[in-house]
Amino acid sequence: MRKCRQCREPIPSKKDCTDPYTNGGFCDIACYGLNKAKKDRESRDKRKRKEHAERKESIKTKAEHARESQAAFNAWIRARDQGLPCISCDKADDGSHQRHASHYRSRGACPEIAYEPLNVHTSCAQCNTMKSGNILEYRIRLVKKIGQSAVDWLEGPHEPKRYTIDELKEIKARYRRLLRELQFDT
Ligand SMILES: [Zn+2]
Ligand SMILES: [Zn+2]
Repeated sequence: MRKCRQCREPIPSKKDCTDPYTNGGFCDIACYGLNKAKKDRESRDKRKRKEHAERKESIKTKAEHARESQAAFNAWIRARDQGLPCISCDKADDGSHQRHASHYRSRGACPEIAYEPLNVHTSCAQCNTMKSGNILEYRIRLVKKIGQSAVDWLEGPHEPKRYTIDELKEIKARYRRLLRELQFDT
């Protein structure tokens, strides 16, 4: 049984009718017209939504881009470290608490390694927020995890870095992609 594509009422099968609108899947020209108007409206709405999103993207400030790229990077860190205990206090990743991506050298002090995977590890919220990373404890476990020479490198001087908006967008896209790959693998 065929149904009208507009009003879902039953319509005759193709071999029983000669009306081109019924052959096309409608009761008649009126249902065809309603359907066409609806399709036009939908594509216009879709185009408007797209334009709106593009406009919103184009007026984003650098700070907003930086926030988004950091959020994408941090989400990847949390996924990478899933199942590992807090880097600063060994609290187990048992689902009982919020997990943070904790920077060893802070973003404010060292923006040039804000997106360096060696510099960011998952901690409990308590260590990251209440104890500012619980850094002395962080360091002990960081040496065990990545080795003394990598820690020395993190603590050493770094080339100053100012990210452009394009670089920030690139970082966001890269870590969203890496996150998807991680989630796909597990
Ligand atoms: Zn109809
Ligand atoms: Zn902790």
